[in-house]
Amino acid sequence: MTKNISCSDAGKDCKWSASAPTEEELMEKVTQHVIEEHKEIELNSESISSIKSLIKDI
Ligand SMILES: [Zn+2]
Repeated sequence: MTKNISCSDAGKDCKWSASAPTEEELMEKVTQHVIEEHKEIELNSESISSIKSLIKDI
């Protein structure tokens, strides 16, 4: 199973999406992307859990 996430699912005007075999690896990619492209998003336990709720199994 592959984990997938896309920024548009979070309501962002952004075409970025990523997939990874595990949630941990996917969250590393998400963190990197947020740091580079979405500096307005503060990564804390609350935002991380709402990001995780957007992860889909494909
Ligand atoms: Zn994005």
